[in-house]
Amino acid sequence: MFGMLRNWRRKRLMEGEFRAEWEFWLRENCGFYAHLPASDRDELKRKMLVFLHEKHFEGCKGVVIDDEIRVTIAAHACLLLLHRSTGFYPFLVTILVYPSSFVVRVKEVDEHGFEWDDYMENAGESWDRGNVIVAWDVARHGALDPRDGLNVLLHEFAHQLDAEDGATEGAPPMDSRQDRKQWAEVMQREYQRLIDDIENDRDTLIDDYGATSPAEFFAVCVETFFEMPREMRAEHPDLYTQLSKYFNQDPAGWPGVDGQEAK
Ligand SMILES: [Zn+2]
Repeated sequence: MFGMLRNWRRKRLMEGEFRAEWEFWLRENCGFYAHLPASDRDELKRKMLVFLHEKHFEGCKGVVIDDEIRVTIAAHACLLLLHRSTGFYPFLVTILVYPSSFVVRVKEVDEHGFEWDDYMENAGESWDRGNVIVAWDVARHGALDPRDGLNVLLHEFAHQLDAEDGATEGAPPMDSRQDRKQWAEVMQREYQRLIDDIENDRDTLIDDYGATSPAEFFAVCVETFFEMPREMRAEHPDLYTQLSKYFNQDPAGWPGVDGQEAK
């Protein structure tokens, strides 16, 4: 009953007006938007209407949430939802936006087994239940350049997808057992390949951070998939195929993605 009501409400939201100021920030800040096929742009905007209505944004340390921040973040979140039926990040309630990298405390265990509190700079975090946290300067910079392979927004929302089945382990939920099996096989092989390449000082297309854990590997691969799709398809065809199947998208085929100006 609640599901039916929610679907009806979302359908109504999708038919709403996409404001001209929002379109401006899409073009101004979201580098990928220039390459997105026209029909995808329309779907993106409809999904953003739902996202912007349902999710709460909170500015931290003096950040004032405005259209620029809301639209830039919503656009990247919704790029990952195109061509699929979606629960719109069902566990995500609030996006916390910091002005710049924030310091987080992490536990380090030394070689004697002692635990230490350590502090590190962080540009983004995704909690399994409730929150995504981003540093706005890093997020904006990543959004402006759609071809450098680094995009903290795509990264954190990929973690949200991964966590939808209750476990953040590098495998978002998939209906078919066969798909899950293929995914696990390719992901494990490619994850190990990245670790081997790093250990042997070989250059890698996929950022080193992906070797941290299978969950980080998935999130980093999502950045590469949308920002360097042709390179990924050429160098990691199996990985590209798996991501392409899951997202039901083929960014290597987007117009202008090879460096030519798109309209
Ligand atoms: Zn991560």
